[in-house]
Amino acid sequence: MAVDTPARIAVLGAGPIGLEAALYARFLGYDVDIYERGNVADNILRWGHVRMFSPFGMNRSTLGLAALRAQDRGYEPPSDDEFLTGLEYADRYLLPLSQTDLLADHLKLGIEVVGVGRPELLKGEEIGTDERIDSDFRILCRDRAGAEFVAAAEVVIDTTGVFGNPNWAGEGGLPAIGEKTVRDRIEYGVPDVLGSARSQYANRKTLVIGAGYSAATTVVGLAKLAEEAPDTHVTWIVRQTNEAEPISPVNDDRLPERAALTVEANRLASGASPNATFKSGTNLHSVKYDEATGKFRVRLAAEGEVGEATAAEFDAIVANVGCRPVNRIYQELQIHECYATGGPMKLAVALQGSSSGDCLTQTTHGPQSLVTPEPDFYILGAKSYGRNPNFLVSIGREQVRDLFTIIGDREDLDLYKTAVSLPSGEVDDQ
Ligand SMILES: Cc1cc2nc3c(=O)[nH]c(=O)nc-3n(C[C@H](O)[C@H](O)[C@H](O)COP(=O)(O)OP(=O)(O)OC[C@H]3O[C@@H](n4cnc5c(N)ncnc54)[C@H](O)[C@@H]3O)c2cc1C
Repeated sequence: MAVDTPARIAVLGAGPIGLEAALYARFLGYDVDIYERGNVADNILRWGHVRMFSPFGMNRSTLGLAALRAQDRGYEPPSDDEFLTGLEYADRYLLPLSQTDLLADHLKLGIEVVGVGRPELLKGEEIGTDERIDSDFRILCRDRAGAEFVAAAEVVIDTTGVFGNPNWAGEGGLPAIGEKTVRDRIEYGVPDVLGSARSQYANRKTLVIGAGYSAATTVVGLAKLAEEAPDTHVTWIVRQTNEAEPISPVNDDRLPERAALTVEANRLASGASPNATFKSGTNLHSVKYDEATGKFRVRLAAEGEVGEATAAEFDAIVANVGCRPVNRIYQELQIHECYATGGPMKLAVALQGSSSGDCLTQTTHGPQSLVTPEPDFYILGAKSYGRNPNFLVSIGREQVRDLFTIIGDREDLDLYKTAVSLPSGEVDDQ
């Protein structure tokens, strides 16, 4: 819905897409508040040691570069073809961007958004009508000390991502027996097994669960660790049956980092290393942590064959089983969610109709795919894909451009195109 300046836009989350959305809004003259529960790029920094598979040119915007150059004429961005680690991406682009005059004073760090509603309307009232826009959004926030307060905005852009809200590791997506009790001891992220987390994995037995790139990264890292610490062992389980190659190679992969990871993970799955065991068609049936020995006792079961479950012991478990959106933020609003992905329905339908093996071939699905039944509430970034893991920063940047054609009410509005021709001095705070 078109919204004239100077309206107040609340951006939830200061990941790459939240920052790009806030920047775009500032360029257009909106008042912007960015609420971030931790620090800038918090989720990315949790896997900061991992090298990204998309080159820097796909992960930055022309507007971001223009803002950085306007702030500091000496700013040297990474080259577009560089493959940065998550930490380098944050240090060399996202953090400096957040400190530009356009964004710095608008960042509210350490503020978690608990929920967003309409103060005068309940979820079931004024279904799909414009009456809902007559009252601003009420945003319930909590600071680091636990104190709660309320903020307001005319437009809300939820870019809170999915990382940090992992799926369960048991059969059918439910918790394995005992998983809830030991959740704090299982690693659901991508640990830096060759760096800061080395002592937790070196010369120890680890169970890795999952069939995506995160699991592949963990398995390949552990196998490398075994070259230096020979008693390191990894057991890798995936629930898919008869998977000779757990990571499907992308034909003529344009991303060399991704191609190399795929080849090495599949090589390990084929039994190439005595330090790695691969089991397809296998689920985590139950898990218990033994305080006395400091080990996990698990039962692994072939699909549908719980009676045949095998017992095993591990020092560590890494569950790279994907993430899901936290939808309680908008549960009092009229958001139509996809029953399969938990993402907003319109976009989920468009994604369903366009699925292909390579996430690089994706395009955005146009401004209308971002519209929800709740006027002026939008979900962008990784969260807009729900449980679908194919989201890329480059798609989020396109979503930002698409969204502001609606908010700015100009079909041809494209600040990314305009920014290319901006001399750096013209990008002053507005
Ligand atoms: C190991 C790994 C490698 C990856 N490599 C690539 C790659 O090479 N290329 C690529 O394009 N993508 C890659 N991705 C995906 C990439 O992480 C996402 O595309 C990107 O981070 C999504 O950005 P976002 O801004 O939507 O969400 P996020 O980066 O997840 O940011 C969300 C922000 O919201 C904050 N937040 C969450 N909840 C709240 C709340 N309630 N209140 C306030 N703030 C909140 C978080 O702290 C966080 O700062 C990778 C992901 C992983 C895990």
